[in-house]
Amino acid sequence: MKGTINVQAENIFPIIKKFLYSDHEIFLRELVSNAVDATSKLKALSRMGEFKDEVGDAKIEVSLDAEKGTLTVSDRGIGMTEEEVVKYLNQVAFSGATEFLKQYEGQVEDAGIIGHFGLGFYSAFMVAKKVEVTTKSWKDAPAVKWTCDGSPEYDIEEVEKEVRGTDIVLYIDDESKEFLEEGRIKGILDKYCKFLPVEIKFGTKEIQVDSEDGEKDEDGNVKKVSQTVDNIVNNPNPLWKQQPSELNAEDYQSFYRELYPMTFEDPLFNIHINVDYPFNLTGVLYFPRLSRHKVELQKNKIQLYSNQVFITDAVENIVPEFLTLLHGVIDSPDIPLNVSRSYLQSDSNVKKISSHITKKVADKLADMFKNDREDFEAKWPDMQVFMDYGLLTDEKFYERIQPSYLFKDTDDKFYNIEELREALKEKHTDKDGNLVVIYTNDAEAHHSLLAGAGKRGLKVLELNTPLTAHLVQHFETKEEKVTFKRIDADPLDKLVPQEGATDSNLTDEQKETLTPVIESAVEKEKFTVVYEGLDESDAPILVTQSEYMRRMKEQSEVGGGGMMGMANMPEYYNLVVNSNHPLISKVLMESDVEKQSQMVKQATDLALLSKGMLKGEKLTQFIQRSADLIAS
Ligand code: ADP
Repeated sequence: MKGTINVQAENIFPIIKKFLYSDHEIFLRELVSNAVDATSKLKALSRMGEFKDEVGDAKIEVSLDAEKGTLTVSDRGIGMTEEEVVKYLNQVAFSGATEFLKQYEGQVEDAGIIGHFGLGFYSAFMVAKKVEVTTKSWKDAPAVKWTCDGSPEYDIEEVEKEVRGTDIVLYIDDESKEFLEEGRIKGILDKYCKFLPVEIKFGTKEIQVDSEDGEKDEDGNVKKVSQTVDNIVNNPNPLWKQQPSELNAEDYQSFYRELYPMTFEDPLFNIHINVDYPFNLTGVLYFPRLSRHKVELQKNKIQLYSNQVFITDAVENIVPEFLTLLHGVIDSPDIPLNVSRSYLQSDSNVKKISSHITKKVADKLADMFKNDREDFEAKWPDMQVFMDYGLLTDEKFYERIQPSYLFKDTDDKFYNIEELREALKEKHTDKDGNLVVIYTNDAEAHHSLLAGAGKRGLKVLELNTPLTAHLVQHFETKEEKVTFKRIDADPLDKLVPQEGATDSNLTDEQKETLTPVIESAVEKEKFTVVYEGLDESDAPILVTQSEYMRRMKEQSEVGGGGMMGMANMPEYYNLVVNSNHPLISKVLMESDVEKQSQMVKQATDLALLSKGMLKGEKLTQFIQRSADLIAS
């Protein structure tokens, strides 16, 4: 019998052929998914007692025939009667495809997730010049063969077919020869079908088994013989679908390897998600070891599934951005996939799912903090970037994580914010009752400052992630009466401003004399000369950089905080003159202008040198001058 597929049929096939060129491979996912559905339906009918025969070995088989140029997907599912073929393939599937194309016309370039979601059965025509469907229903009905060569006409005829189920044979077209290559098909099955719930066979493989007659070899071991068995390419019962109570740490580790065969590092820990109300969400998330230099590489490893069918590993807009640093699997049939990305963002299910994931992650971290502080601290360096990112971008996450967020001091001791308040209360409270938290981003560079801080009984934190500037700002706005200052933001004695602190004892006149001499020793535009009465043992002149200015610059470099595009902000410093230092009185008393200038140059150069800011010609001159001074 011949029939014609109605409605604008002339138009659809060329469009299908062109549709999403790069995504042609999804035809196989669509066909195998249909085969899985047909098999699952049969199993359900059998459980309900409607289908009384044996379900038997209900594998799905994918096979290639290079000579005929065909790719076949066979299942032992419910099959279709003639009436159903006409209804499902010519009407349901066809109108589904038509509607899909109508909806996304002109959006093909912006495909993203929509590109990953399906034309269903008709996607076969993206790669085939002819499709044959031979099917026998579970009901008592003759088998039929439906043939369509991509034109609106199709053939349908009764045929002989012993076994129940459906064989879909694609005659691969000339432009799509790649889909006749074993490696290519294996790759696609691996990507999209790896965790489908029905066994999928693709080819065969040799294994070694004990010989049947139990014959022994010289060593007395049973002889081995080769046997050919089906090569099953998927894991029909992936870990995230199993009960967490039945799994141990090793199971999670080996599933991680299954997901990322090319990753050699073990994850830090994992979170198993298992929700069925008010939405359906399962999955397992792994917390990778986030070295801060590898953050970008680590992103986009979460795989999104819908009922075990792989959809995408580009999960932006589905989970909050900081969660994309995690690895693992999220499976939810409740995430609408065949819609645009901007729609996804505002979808209420997506919002609920995403906030549920955030909560789960935060709860897990809080538990770990409570239950094993030592272990939590050991993991901290690998988690910190994630924590920073999360609490900066997600209000709720901040609230949940705040008590377990850790600060580490230069003696490797950890504090949460409350412990920090307690530990710093005495020495770090300024005249206005603010807690001044002092930090270094580079203990090596700040060596002498750290020694000075130690002498004064000050504690210094080590904060040196790319997000530090944003982070300290965030804590300052969130927490009451806390300010952060990098150790080189002020002279040590001025970091925690105190009532009645000694000011400079120089007269205005003396300052007016000194300022131009000092300014002439440096690049004037970059430095502001200020006078402070510091300890005699401090340097005569030192370079500081205001916390505020430096932070602005750092923030603009990382981006965010409304300061994008200001990456080239100039740097400004203070030259702090320690008026209590004997050298300063000496300079003031020196009548030889040349000598006076020499002394100031030497002192400012030392200040620059200790900040690592003395370079090039200036450094050469400094070395020369120092040698001359020693010799004189
Ligand atoms: P969808 O699967 O989204 O319904 P498809 O275009 O993929 O859309 O398929 C249309 C219909 O054809 C299916 O709903 C199903 O009833 C039928 N069908 C497709 N493939 C098979 C199969 N292998 N076995 C039985 N029925 C099938």
